[in-house]
Amino acid sequence: MKIDFANLNRAYALHKEEFDSAMSEVVRASNFIMGKAMYDLEETLSRYVGVKHCISCASGTDALLLALMALDIKQGDEVITTPFTFFATAEVIALCGATPVFVDIDLSDYNIDIQKIESAITPQTKAIMPVSLYGQMADMPALLALAKKHGLKVIEDAAQSFGATYSGQKSGSYRDVGCTSFFPAKPLGCFGDGGAVFTDDDLLAEKLRSLRVHGQTGRYIHKYVGIGGRLDTIQATVLNVKMKYYESDIKGRRRLADYYNRHIESSKVIKPFEKPSYTSVWAQYTLRIDPSQRDDFQAYLTSRGIPTAIHYPKPMHLQECFQGVLAYREGDFPIAERVAKEVISLPMNPYFTEEEKAYIVEAVNGF
Ligand SMILES: *Cc1c(COP(=O)(O)O)cnc(C)c1O
Repeated sequence: MKIDFANLNRAYALHKEEFDSAMSEVVRASNFIMGKAMYDLEETLSRYVGVKHCISCASGTDALLLALMALDIKQGDEVITTPFTFFATAEVIALCGATPVFVDIDLSDYNIDIQKIESAITPQTKAIMPVSLYGQMADMPALLALAKKHGLKVIEDAAQSFGATYSGQKSGSYRDVGCTSFFPAKPLGCFGDGGAVFTDDDLLAEKLRSLRVHGQTGRYIHKYVGIGGRLDTIQATVLNVKMKYYESDIKGRRRLADYYNRHIESSKVIKPFEKPSYTSVWAQYTLRIDPSQRDDFQAYLTSRGIPTAIHYPKPMHLQECFQGVLAYREGDFPIAERVAKEVISLPMNPYFTEEEKAYIVEAVNGF
């Protein structure tokens, strides 16, 4: 059997007519930039997340960058984040001229360890940027309380967690800003690059909308130095179609995670943990295995037609670009370093047949 990791083709085929006609309509109207579909999408997304403002943009990376720019994060500032994430999280902090300050992760959910944040706070610290890794938020109440105590901004990197909740409250809706990505393989993916920023703050929203279009406040009038970071109307129209089915997609992902949780019995692997009161959207279903066995496990699954992925093999503080720039070395974040050697993600999407699910689980248990 040949298993597809994300089944993007099935996602398209399932609603092909709707996607095709929505995209044709944009082409027909030739309203490619900031067309009506983009404003419709922002309305739908802000209602879904439960915040006043959604500012769509060109990617998840741009969403994070816009958030930092809007909060005036600049050279000399420090932003606390996790070393165990996709590179963009740390990248945007450095792009703003600020310094990423890493704090080790919690072994239970692989998110930033809130207990360890306080000792990393200095007079230069301006913000905390938690990443809701694999689709599940960090301990948000504790994180928000800490940020409030120290007067720090919070920017949630919700690139993997759109639709996730804590006590019913959606990821992306937490103060000050939430940022998500619509990269095709994310839980809510478009047909290219896309992203969005969420906030309840009217002034911040106005600034974000301006920064997205070169910091402009009127035609050819530039109040800020911004970026060219708009979402294409075509991507917005694709997302408008996808949003109709998104709750059902999340249910499908959660069903698959539940199936994996119940049926994976191999004593060789450690399964992911969903915290009480939190729901994950399972951007990834990520196991851990002894580092000495990971390559063999991956090769074994590949030989059975089951693709896997390593999210992520190298923590941020050990990346080449930060060597000699940030004063970190191997051993600084033992949990992140250990987990990076142990993780392996199984295929995850809402479109598998029962037969495919059973096939994956049997293979995992047979290793
Ligand atoms: C995907 C991702 C991003 C970047 O999103 P893009 O849309 O690819 O730019 C940022 N942070 C995390 C945690 C991600 O997974």
